[in-house]
Amino acid sequence: MSTGFAAVPSAPCFRLTGARAPLCLVETGGLAADRDGLALIDIAVEGGRIASILPSGTEGLHDGPALDLDGGIVLPRLIDCHVHLDKGHIWPRQRNPDGSFMGALNSVMADREAHWSAADVRARMDFGLRCAFAHGTAALRTHIDSLGKQIDISWPVLAELRAEWAGRIAIQASPLFGIQFALDDAHVRDVVSAVRAHGDGIFGCVTYMIPELDAALDVIFHTAIENGFDLDFHVDETNDPAARSLEHIADAAIRHRFTGKILAGHCCSLALQQPEDEARIIAKVKEAGIAVVSLPMCNMYLQDRQPGRTPRWRGVTALHELKAAGVPVMIASDNTRDPFYAYGDLDLIEVLREGTRILQLDHAGSDWANTVARMPAAIMGLEGTGTLSPGGPADLVLTRARDWTEFFARPQADRTVLVSGRAIDTTLPDHRELDHLMGGRL
Ligand SMILES: [Zn+2]
Repeated sequence: MSTGFAAVPSAPCFRLTGARAPLCLVETGGLAADRDGLALIDIAVEGGRIASILPSGTEGLHDGPALDLDGGIVLPRLIDCHVHLDKGHIWPRQRNPDGSFMGALNSVMADREAHWSAADVRARMDFGLRCAFAHGTAALRTHIDSLGKQIDISWPVLAELRAEWAGRIAIQASPLFGIQFALDDAHVRDVVSAVRAHGDGIFGCVTYMIPELDAALDVIFHTAIENGFDLDFHVDETNDPAARSLEHIADAAIRHRFTGKILAGHCCSLALQQPEDEARIIAKVKEAGIAVVSLPMCNMYLQDRQPGRTPRWRGVTALHELKAAGVPVMIASDNTRDPFYAYGDLDLIEVLREGTRILQLDHAGSDWANTVARMPAAIMGLEGTGTLSPGGPADLVLTRARDWTEFFARPQADRTVLVSGRAIDTTLPDHRELDHLMGGRL
């Protein structure tokens, strides 16, 4: 068990007093925030739900034992809207040879062809889910590589895991394939039937600047409208400013009068446009109702990497400009220990910490905790999660950090995670558990 707050009461009714929480995540009026945007509150828990949130020190409204958090930051359990459970943890048997994007693409393709049986995919996905759960994740959206024989292998496994993990992590999935396959009727039919049988009403692909991009996007949008799907794209993960598929997606959404949700991931090359092009594209993204997720750790790993040359660019999209224009923005984990990102553990506190440094979220307002909580919950249709809400689940992450400098200075490895008001075991799974899938290689 976590040692930080071993004394979380096990009574059905208890109070957490002296908590600090980001005001942007608290669904209660009348609270005052400090200079870090944090409000000092007492949280009453009854029967696994939050009964009330009041200014700290309010007298006599709830019974039961109390745990004094001594000013420590409390977050809701967090929401990871862009991960790749099916690729996770293959690094020991399939490294990225040079740390480049093409190296990643080719390495994953080779590994998929050679190793991705149902048993292999299931073991690695379950490992990732256990990491995410122990770190305090309440919900995640994974992409599922959806090409050829892999479609019939991975989607049923995903459906089994979704059922097994119900009540611990809410799992959503979105298909992943190159946009050129949208022009292959049989492929689209196969993916649609997998999503209809095993998915969550989400469809999408990776967009590239192929000559037939607009026609292929028409297929994607037609398919989504016919089936009532939301959309999720991997977009412009490159330093080439000629990559403007984000603008084509926005044009297509407007052209089709699409009313579902659209999430665009990466959008790296948006940050390298001329200012007038950037402004035009962002205005279209806003008009089309597209939300944008940046994957700061993976983007910094892959982008602007050349042998013998120090990187000059952090690889991330124009997130501040998108937010200023009113576009919903978020950050997420992306890959874990695979050729697209050699590290990572599906820990959203790490993502928020590294995202804050890479994207300089500090000194730019105090509501950035939304990017791993309220905003991804909204795009995933999980309203009521990703916030601290009276009547909502007592799904909480408790830390000893009293402000953002204490919070980001350390990995918060001593955090306590509550699910429905109960402290869970936050012991992480041992990487050795996957050794039998790695052909004896570390
Ligand atoms: Zn991704």
